[in-house]
Amino acid sequence: MGASVTVRAPAKVNLQLSVGPKRADGYHELATVFHAVSLFDDVRARQAEPGAGISLTISGEGAGELPLDETNLAWRAVLLLADQAGLPADIELHLHKGIPVAGGMAGGSADAAGALLACESLWQLGIAREELMVLASSLGSDVPFAVHGGNAIGTGRGEQLLSALSRGVFEWVFALADKGLSTPTVYTECDRLRGGREIKAPVVAPEVMQALRAGDPLALGAALKNDLQPAAISLRPILSQVLEVGESYGALGAIVSGSGPTCAFLAADEEQALDIAVGLTSAGVCRTVKRATGAVPGARIVA
Ligand code: C5P
Repeated sequence: MGASVTVRAPAKVNLQLSVGPKRADGYHELATVFHAVSLFDDVRARQAEPGAGISLTISGEGAGELPLDETNLAWRAVLLLADQAGLPADIELHLHKGIPVAGGMAGGSADAAGALLACESLWQLGIAREELMVLASSLGSDVPFAVHGGNAIGTGRGEQLLSALSRGVFEWVFALADKGLSTPTVYTECDRLRGGREIKAPVVAPEVMQALRAGDPLALGAALKNDLQPAAISLRPILSQVLEVGESYGALGAIVSGSGPTCAFLAADEEQALDIAVGLTSAGVCRTVKRATGAVPGARIVA
């Protein structure tokens, strides 16, 4: 058996996701606040025999829905790094999923970040963090944040990060849907709903940053905002009901996570998080409910 490295990478929720106009390259200009939460994917990279190439296996929730070939972002991350390093990509990759698939929580990006870090360590490349971040951003807009973790302001298409601090622990409940939503489809729906209206350049709201710094869940709950939410609800109308149920159980804030369809609820404390989780489960409006805390660190080696 070859040597192996395992990296644990977190999910994210966007505390604010302000979507600006569509750019010439097809991406939308964003002003977002990323927050890493304690749902994780574990990515194990094992050195394979010379000439073996890449193989990919996946376990955990939603594993059967994901591709096991070069269309998987984790596979592409291994190829990219091997290419950069001038090494053959002979790797057995295993993903263990704890992040909902196609749920708007950047699970695929977490896998790519995990694969990058795991192979970088396995091959002892000594690549500087800034360079890794550039590689990460070439894989996808949310991949740099999966490496970064914690809290960060994201601009550009979401890949340009500025660290942000938070105090204390925020308690979250996530309502997971039966079926995922495609990110490009949600952005397209957002454009359609906006029609020809002129869209201003997005900016980060000071209320979000203040609430994070103060560790104030009440203020943060009130400041949560997602411009993709109307589009996700338009494509999946039941989401408005899911949000209402969470609010009726006292959530301080209720929001679609990223491009959805996962809904995120901020609770005052653990006890209220439990109430919200039980309420959502008994209302039967979602497939399953998960609790998590934030902020947590970015992708890091665990074995
Ligand atoms: O960067 P990533 O590959 O994760 O983006 C997936 C898709 O989401 C893009 O192809 C685009 O349709 C949409 N997107 C966007 N604007 C962003 C980020 C993503 O329109 N800032």
